[in-house]
Amino acid sequence: MIDVMHIGGTTDWFQCLCGNEPHSDGFFSCDGDGRIISPSVTSGWNERIYVCGLCHRIIDGPTLQVMAVCSEQVVFDNDRFDWSNY
Ligand SMILES: [Zn+2]
Repeated sequence: MIDVMHIGGTTDWFQCLCGNEPHSDGFFSCDGDGRIISPSVTSGWNERIYVCGLCHRIIDGPTLQVMAVCSEQVVFDNDRFDWSNY
C-alpha cells in the first residue's frame, strides 16, 4: 500500500511538508513531471498542479495531495527556467 501524503495549509495558502510557504520559496504551476510552465491556458497547464520551490514536491492544488517529487533532470531544468516566459 502506498502512503498518500498531503501538504498543510489551505488551497489558497500552501504549507509544504518541507516548511515552504507562498511568501518564502513559493509554488509554481507545472506539468505532471513538475516542470515549471506558465499559469496560462496556452502553456498546457491543467490549472491544478504546482511544484514546491524548495523541496520539488509536485502538489495537486485542489486536494493538497503530494503526487510525486521532481526527478533530478526536472530540478535541473527548473533551476534554469526562463522567468520571462512565466
Ligand atoms: Zn516543499
